[in-house]
Amino acid sequence: MVRVALDTPLRRLFDYLPARDATFDPQPGARVRVPFGRQRLIGVVHSWAESSDVPREKLKPLLEIIDAEPVIDAGVMELVEFAAQYYHHSLGEVMAAALPKLAREGAPSRALTERWFASGPGLEALENETLTRARRQRELLEILRAEPGIAAGDLAQRIEDWRTPMRALVARGFASSAEVADDAKPTDQPLLRTPGPALSPEQSAAVTAIDAAAGKFAPFLLHGITGSGKTEVYLHAVEHCLRQGGRALVLVPEIGLTPQLVARFRERFAVTVAVLHSGLTDSERLAAWRDCVGGTARIVLGTRSAVFAPAADLGIVIVDEEHDASFKQHESGFRYSARDLAILRAQRAGVPIVLGSATPSLETLQNVVNGRYTRLSLPRRAGQALPPRAAVIDLREHAVRAGIATPALEAMQRHLDAGGQVLVYINRRGYSPTLACTACGWIAPCRDCDARLTVHLAAAKLRCHHCGAEAPLPANCPQCGYAVRHVGQGTERVEETLAGLFPTMPIARLDRDVVRRRGDLESVVNRVASGEARILVGTQMVTKGHDFPSVTLVVVLNADQGLFSTDFRAPERVAQTIIQVAGRAGRGEKPGEVLIQTEYPEHPLLRSLLDEGYDGFARTALAERAAAGWPPFAHVVALRASASTLATASEFLQQARKLVRAPRGVKLLGPAPAAMTKRAARYHAQLLLEARERAPLHRALAAWLPDVESLKAPRDLRWSLDVDPLDLF
Ligand code: ADP
Ligand code: ZN
Ligand code: ZN
Repeated sequence: MVRVALDTPLRRLFDYLPARDATFDPQPGARVRVPFGRQRLIGVVHSWAESSDVPREKLKPLLEIIDAEPVIDAGVMELVEFAAQYYHHSLGEVMAAALPKLAREGAPSRALTERWFASGPGLEALENETLTRARRQRELLEILRAEPGIAAGDLAQRIEDWRTPMRALVARGFASSAEVADDAKPTDQPLLRTPGPALSPEQSAAVTAIDAAAGKFAPFLLHGITGSGKTEVYLHAVEHCLRQGGRALVLVPEIGLTPQLVARFRERFAVTVAVLHSGLTDSERLAAWRDCVGGTARIVLGTRSAVFAPAADLGIVIVDEEHDASFKQHESGFRYSARDLAILRAQRAGVPIVLGSATPSLETLQNVVNGRYTRLSLPRRAGQALPPRAAVIDLREHAVRAGIATPALEAMQRHLDAGGQVLVYINRRGYSPTLACTACGWIAPCRDCDARLTVHLAAAKLRCHHCGAEAPLPANCPQCGYAVRHVGQGTERVEETLAGLFPTMPIARLDRDVVRRRGDLESVVNRVASGEARILVGTQMVTKGHDFPSVTLVVVLNADQGLFSTDFRAPERVAQTIIQVAGRAGRGEKPGEVLIQTEYPEHPLLRSLLDEGYDGFARTALAERAAAGWPPFAHVVALRASASTLATASEFLQQARKLVRAPRGVKLLGPAPAAMTKRAARYHAQLLLEARERAPLHRALAAWLPDVESLKAPRDLRWSLDVDPLDLF
């Protein structure tokens, strides 16, 4: 019996008989085509079994074996199984997440080339000069005789419209073709293209510690501010791994996988680097995956789902910007944390893992505190750059012009006069977050969300940043007809204001509205990096990965959002963003200055951040988490539901709650409406399960979920389970 994982929500495997006239049996990890009801599906062989719960006469045979070699190796299979269990998700769906779309549809795991051969009779025909009058057929056949197995592409180079004479040859039985798998390229290339720079003492110490751990599971936190040379440490650690014959898996956040980073790996290493990210076309992704499956790739560099990429002889795992929220898939389907799975993968493979960050997640820092992870610090910046000085501007004490306080404007003038560049950070895109009536108090709401519409002035649109709804920008209040007013600032408005205040200074803007297509990001980054733009206004996007050595001043316009959020993780994010943005200042020779505008200069978290840096903030925040019993001191699972009325969603969660057989130590919170209850015309609510220990929580979940699944839910109800949720909204 073959046990097959199929991409269905059912949490079980499906049994099949061996294929009828197959010459070999598929191995675990190989794809097969199977009958499933009236459909034919592609699944992955999980294992072989002696018996089945299904009576033998009901079992059907496999229709086709797609792979002679597994495409999901034993290590990835183990990871997939763990992930399915831990996130309480169907094995087949997790398996599907591990394969690119074209591979799920059955594309061969190796690139196939159409190759052509002359047949025996064809060669005879050449000898007997049968073809004297068919000149083009004869030419073609002579090529096939001289170069048996020539690729179709090469034929096209040699003979124009070659398929016409070839058809004639095939019809006479003189030639035939075959789809042949390309062999992996030889791997005895040199390893390095260029040697790296000499390492600083701290970098050397880090690399030595990582190298010494080769061949065993050893988690490291590489803690260094932006520009301290972490990437250089990765490059050296990867080099060491490659020299020992291993492969390297490097995970980066969505926005961190810039062409510069890819270029840095490709400039350093002569070996094949497979790059996997969400911006690839399906066939590009398939090609990169094939390099992984075939073993051609010695380095796999990718975003979230690359954690499932095949990598035989894995020797090291690296997770850059490990705190980044984009490692968690939380929107739909299979919700997993690529960072957490990367740790597990390294553990199972018995190899070191390096988690790099300037602002580690509190979970990771707690693991350093309790001795599970080893911290490697890069306290200094590479090169000569000095750490930036940071100060707050109390917004209550100063005149504010379009969101920018006078001392900030003065500082900008000073830095610009001195030839520096200025970065202005604001975490909102668009022109203004609110459109309000000057007379009756009307505020433009989203029809489908508990949210206001954002003004996008250049596009003359109102847009909802939660559901994407769009409306024309009204000139007057639709309720009373009086004039409307733009309240508050977004990047677009800050850019406009600064253009008025510094008319001779070219300004660049970086946010999701500017960056729409491939290459947009590059062109903005280049305008700043080249020094052409003197002022950069941007959202979070400015914080990741780019090197702007001439930025000497960073102004954070609104640090306060998030300090008072209901989400226990919000302060951590604020602190991370401030540190990351501040890290953009003074990366070059000139020292940097950072100004943070706030209405709450005395807020304890902000104070600890400014007085003691990120480590001080983390101590304060971890103490708060411990006191409140939040992660990492507890484990949380969210059961979320949404429906066209709040009552439906809440009622479902109430019923689900009644079915929990919670052991001691597992607490139930809710159900409660989500903080933004109405989103995209649906009402959202959640039920939280929380426990100090992971094991009883997961046992309770395993027993409970089948009951939840069998609950009779109204048609418009959708629910999902989120293990270790990042946001509690
Ligand atoms: P991070 O990844 O921590 O932001 P990088 O590794 O990108 O830091 O280093 C920042 C800059 O310093 C890069 O331009 C890099 O080439 C340079 N750099 C890093 N390490 C060294 C070194 N040992 N000697 C000289 N330059 C270095
Ligand atoms: Zn009005
Ligand atoms: Zn909306």
